[in-house]
Amino acid sequence: MRYSEMFLPTGREVPSDAELISHQLMIRAGLMRKLTSGVYSYLPLGYRVIRKFEQIVREEMNRAGAQEVFLPMVQPAELWQESGRWAHYGKELLRFRDRHDRECCLGPTHEEVITDLVRNEIKTYRQLPRNLYQIQTKFRDEIRPRFGVMRCREFGMKDAYSFDMDEAGSEISYRKMFDAYQRIFTRCGLNFRPVEADSGSIGGKYSHEFMVMADSGEDAICYCGACNYAANLEKAEISRPAENGPAGMTPPVEEVNTPGVRTIKEVCAFLGVAPEAVVKTLIFSADGTPVAVLIRGDQEVNEIKVKNFLGCDLLELADDAMIRKVTGSPRGFAGAVGIKARIIADYSLLGMADCVMGANREDFHLRHVKPGRDFLIADHADLRVVRESDPCPRCGAEIRFARGIEVGHVFKLGTKYSKAMRAAYLDREGQERTMVMGCYGIGIGRTVAAAIEQNHDADGIIWPLPLAPYPVIITPVNVNEKVLFSAAEDLYHALEANGVEVILDDRDERAGVKFKDADLIGIPYRVTVGPKKLAEGKMEIKTRRSGEVIALPVSEVAAFLIGLISAKDLALSTKICT
Ligand SMILES: [Zn+2]
Repeated sequence: MRYSEMFLPTGREVPSDAELISHQLMIRAGLMRKLTSGVYSYLPLGYRVIRKFEQIVREEMNRAGAQEVFLPMVQPAELWQESGRWAHYGKELLRFRDRHDRECCLGPTHEEVITDLVRNEIKTYRQLPRNLYQIQTKFRDEIRPRFGVMRCREFGMKDAYSFDMDEAGSEISYRKMFDAYQRIFTRCGLNFRPVEADSGSIGGKYSHEFMVMADSGEDAICYCGACNYAANLEKAEISRPAENGPAGMTPPVEEVNTPGVRTIKEVCAFLGVAPEAVVKTLIFSADGTPVAVLIRGDQEVNEIKVKNFLGCDLLELADDAMIRKVTGSPRGFAGAVGIKARIIADYSLLGMADCVMGANREDFHLRHVKPGRDFLIADHADLRVVRESDPCPRCGAEIRFARGIEVGHVFKLGTKYSKAMRAAYLDREGQERTMVMGCYGIGIGRTVAAAIEQNHDADGIIWPLPLAPYPVIITPVNVNEKVLFSAAEDLYHALEANGVEVILDDRDERAGVKFKDADLIGIPYRVTVGPKKLAEGKMEIKTRRSGEVIALPVSEVAAFLIGLISAKDLALSTKICT
């Protein structure tokens, strides 16, 4: 493509509403423009990158045996009422009425539509398993869209849905998608990690988020430097620690007047103890039933772990009335001794034999409390938030923290939708059974933005070759010099004839301006055609990422570039096959 003919508005100004570097660069490099809050138009250069990524996604989804469909964006309310989500989805679901006053919504996701399609067509075990995917526009009416396409309202997504006869089949489908995702992000040349994530109340024991590593990422993740364990902070497990040997004698419990002392810090200062010797008592309402959760003073409770452990639908901190009912005192003085609630304790209480805790009496604490002697713990469990340098639950090495951008999620749905919407099949014995589902998403624009977060410098984007809108740009330093320009054009034609997507910067601009634009839009290889080198019969090739420049005889440049570009493809496809 000739630069002079391209619709490629680049700019030097940093847009005032763009906080994230990817957002700034996507505007400055002419990849997209904002239409309205959280809604963007892709321009030709940006849409090229989108299509390159989509192509990789398609190839790997097809390779994994999934089949592409294209489902409607407008969905009838009835399906959402059937699944139960019409009432629960909230304002992110954009609802409207058509001219016949029928309620509809714009699809934020497609579980209902795909389940409806499959239940009508699949009747027997012979038609299972099936995995169907699409690359479609979704709409979620985010309250505060920001970060460009990273958190917007209208966005492209690849979503796949698997249907299996049973849990074992679903596990195989899940694994295939997990492997496909590994290949997709590897092929894109991204530094990423699959991390274990919470799967909430539906969808089996675990799910995985695929995170592109970037310091600007919204999500904190923890990983092990020694093995491949990685998880998001909600999910990160902490193993049951080895219990200490028998403790020494614990003096009898003593009640101490602690006027105005509430926080752990104040308790420690007042009683001269370390936070490790204090026990915090948090009272939760689990589906309306009070539960006391104990944790060591230097740790924090992970409510998701508590909720999963209790298996309740709604977990919230108890209100004043419930606290008074179970402790007999106002908020802020709860302790385990004499409390009228089930007591569960984090593993951090194991081995504690002489601790300080609230006395269930205003302005009093207890010291020399011994769990087991002074109160009974119903269960010990992993209930706390992970911390850096905690031991890895798999190998015991130290856990480290990093930041990432979630670009994909593989998730087991179990029978949540198939049960509610009666997606059933007849098994070998002619018995009707419910299909077991999985869903698998990839944010298309989000991945492109994440690629920029991970690959840029002060001059602009540095596209990984597989995502680059064009792998090569040819920059004649002066288009008015005939010899020079025709040498550039010859190379342009030679590359195009060999299927290389290439930009010829034929603008009558200063070389410096052209170089700046080439760097900003992140083209991996720039060929400079200048008078001095051309007089020697050479052109210069500059690699965007390394800045490395080599001069080659004019006759060798095309073959060299074709070699570079196809060699990368080859290396990637070999990697995928192993
Ligand atoms: Zn480990």
